[in-house]
Amino acid sequence: MFLGHFGLALAAKRAAPRASLGTTVFAAQFLDLLWPLLLLAGVERVRIVPGLMEASALDFEHYPVTHSLLMAAVWALLVAGIYYAVRRYRTGALVVGGLVLSHWLLDAPMHRPDLPLWPGSDVLVGGGLWHSLTATLFIEAGLLAAGAFVYTRTTRPLNRRGSWGLWAMIALLVVFFAGALFGPPPPDARTIAFSALALWLFVPWAAWIDRNRALVRTQHDQPAHGELARTGSIG
Ligand SMILES: [Zn+2]
Repeated sequence: MFLGHFGLALAAKRAAPRASLGTTVFAAQFLDLLWPLLLLAGVERVRIVPGLMEASALDFEHYPVTHSLLMAAVWALLVAGIYYAVRRYRTGALVVGGLVLSHWLLDAPMHRPDLPLWPGSDVLVGGGLWHSLTATLFIEAGLLAAGAFVYTRTTRPLNRRGSWGLWAMIALLVVFFAGALFGPPPPDARTIAFSALALWLFVPWAAWIDRNRALVRTQHDQPAHGELARTGSIG
């Protein structure tokens, strides 16, 4: 799963309006942000097998720290705990934790059975939807579009940066996704790790977009005590 994680991060703004989009992107992508670091450190392993599945050539040989269910839950608690300690925003912390865990839950239907329940577990989970290019395209594009729909109804641009920044980010995500899907398979695991490191850039980018947008006031959730509707927060 790739675009779908960003879709969920965008939609999460509705559930935790005071959390920055940078934070929700970080949380939803956390396991994949950690992964290239552990690949380069030699802790986790991936192999490229051209033609393995219609939508992915990656054979995730060893994935215990970033993509086991137990560790996903541990990371979720840790990231949510740190967020709460810094921001003191309970709803935000719950949403952040949920997003970290959601990464595993969204990956599970797409992967071949290669996601362990815990490090060293023999039980490997995966629904194998990557075997179908059509299903992959529908699910990924659908989740991103739904997330963008919710985000653009929850926030409005304060200036041109707030609108063009958002659409440029979405366009670049789609280009990344299409490149991975239709381009030649990467030559080796190091190349995968370095291109995955580039995903970190979307975190400050999303935070910057969010600073240039304001929450849309609805009758449902009027800010209390005349609090400014501007999202303001960077964290
Ligand atoms: Zn993942």
